[in-house]
Amino acid sequence: MSRKTLNLTESLYDYVLSVSSREPQILQQLREKTASLERAEMQISPEQGQFMAWLIQLMGAAKTLEIGVFTGYSALSVALALPEDGKIIACDVNEEWTAIGQKYWEKAGIADKIDLHLAPALTTLDHLIASGESGSFDFAFIDADKTNYLHYYERTLQLIRPGGVIMVDNVLWGGSVINPDKQDDDTIAIRQFNEHLHQDDRITLSLLPIADGLTLAIRR
Ligand code: SAM
Ligand code: CA
Repeated sequence: MSRKTLNLTESLYDYVLSVSSREPQILQQLREKTASLERAEMQISPEQGQFMAWLIQLMGAAKTLEIGVFTGYSALSVALALPEDGKIIACDVNEEWTAIGQKYWEKAGIADKIDLHLAPALTTLDHLIASGESGSFDFAFIDADKTNYLHYYERTLQLIRPGGVIMVDNVLWGGSVINPDKQDDDTIAIRQFNEHLHQDDRITLSLLPIADGLTLAIRR
């Protein structure tokens, strides 16, 4: 027994998956396709996708935002859990990666739930705010370029409703956050981001040490 989070060994991680993974076949196919790409490590893990779907169901979320799509695994996980009239406004700049996602979204029959905006995410978020969409989103997932995390967070906080949830990926950055030798822009940005949220009383905060570190914030 432990009062601290367990250090997951490879075999304990395998066990977790063996008794809990319910990855739909279409997500498994997309994961296998993505594994052949050079940047495959950018994809979220299947248990994280399953957790996101679980949270969407728990919240009864319908209108959602995704910042950082890549080949569409997290978007597909969320879309499969959304109601018929559910929506994801999905932001990315890369046509090639998102085209892979779109193919699998079509195959899964949920492509009409995802509006892909191929533009810098800040432009899309500013446009949503200017069009009067503030306070209208139930859920948002931030998983794009780390140096913009604080900007994404501030805009997203405006766009989601009170009681809505912001999920932020990679907040432990492979452990670099506590390594004083790591002073690159991404690591510095993530440290600043984590410290900022810790002090921010506009949200109810939880940092889950799963995958690469996952922050959950409820807008108060
Ligand atoms: N959530 C994805 C998944 O489940 O596989 C992984 C996202 S990946 C870590 C980050 C993505 O952010 C990349 O696809 C990249 O093209 C995108 N990105 C980088 N800079 C961006 C920007 N300024 N605006 C929008 N997207 C950006
Ligand atoms: Ca990520």
